[in-house]
Amino acid sequence: MSFKVAIIGRPNVGKSTLFNRLAGKKLALVDDTPGVTRDRRIHPAKLYDLSFDVIDTAGFETAAPHTLQGRMREQTEIAIREADLVIFMVDARAGLLPDDKAFADIVRKSGKPVVLAANKSESRASEGGTLEAWEAGLGEPIPISAEHGQGMPDLRDAIVEAL
Ligand code: GDP
Ligand code: MG
Repeated sequence: MSFKVAIIGRPNVGKSTLFNRLAGKKLALVDDTPGVTRDRRIHPAKLYDLSFDVIDTAGFETAAPHTLQGRMREQTEIAIREADLVIFMVDARAGLLPDDKAFADIVRKSGKPVVLAANKSESRASEGGTLEAWEAGLGEPIPISAEHGQGMPDLRDAIVEAL
């Protein structure tokens, strides 16, 4: 089976890091500066037995005639529309911020199958934020570490269940 997965979330939660891991390449720009991913990028990806296309999204677009918020929303909505499933990512160390809730609303309203990934979960400091992520209203948060490759089997199972 072939399907498309969009990684959605506010800037700096680790979307491009997961995209790179799934795509097996250093394609998307990863940076500490929010908003360095300038385009939506799509690339074939593998997660164990699953093959799919993964879509990375920019949280912000700079040279846009729209407001920053409007542009974020537009990019996000285009990616969600293209996708069969959404990985909605939060930063478990930061907890659930107002911006996360705004993105979560967009995802929920889309009606697409969604997996909630609580990223940056490699340390105990993320436990509180992972619990808080339940408040996104998108089901059970799956603790992962995109950077360290942790939680990938659970992510795989959650994708299969949600599809
Ligand atoms: P994006 O803006 O959502 O695409 O986020 P990036 O993938 O560019 O990552 C933002 C920052 O978070 C970078 O400094 C990454 O190295 C860092 N990061 C990504 N994943 C993890 C993780 O699992 N653990 C930790 N501690 N940092 C991470
Ligand atoms: Mg990015």
